Amino acid sequence: MKSKKITVPKKKTIALVAHDHKKKELLEWVKKHEDKLKGHNFIGTGTTAAIISNKTSLDVRRLSSGPLGGDQQLGALISKGEIDILIFFWDPLEAQPHDPDVKALLRISTLYDIAMATSPTTADFILSSPMFLDEYDKSVLDSEYSVEERIERDNFED
Ligand code: PGA
Repeated sequence: MKSKKITVPKKKTIALVAHDHKKKELLEWVKKHEDKLKGHNFIGTGTTAAIISNKTSLDVRRLSSGPLGGDQQLGALISKGEIDILIFFWDPLEAQPHDPDVKALLRISTLYDIAMATSPTTADFILSSPMFLDEYDKSVLDSEYSVEERIERDNFED
């Protein structure tokens, strides 16, 4: 599969998602780092985005609620290269009705090599990395090329 080089910009687009029992933890994490987070772009699943927007100074673009399609909307944005960092506090102690979507979000984030934190400690590590405030070159799957490549390889002519 073909890859392409992209540059993660200085100003990051950060996606925020937290399952219900993890929302407080995410809110606390955001509050703790609010000054450092300011100036970046934010997007999140419905309820998470609303909570963070209401309780902090960050303006979080709101997708649908996770169980109602928000995780999948986020996955689509990731595949288009529109998300740089995913802070996803998922709940390892509770089954989710949208478990396939959760799994898909983790999969697509890994496929496109998104910096992803699933707990406050990993989120702290991302935030304290020198790369957080700088540009960062990386190589990711070229989804457009992969389509062309497959059509050619599988030879769909009659
Ligand atoms: P929510 O979705 O922010 O709308 O609660 C989170 C999730 O469960 O994916």
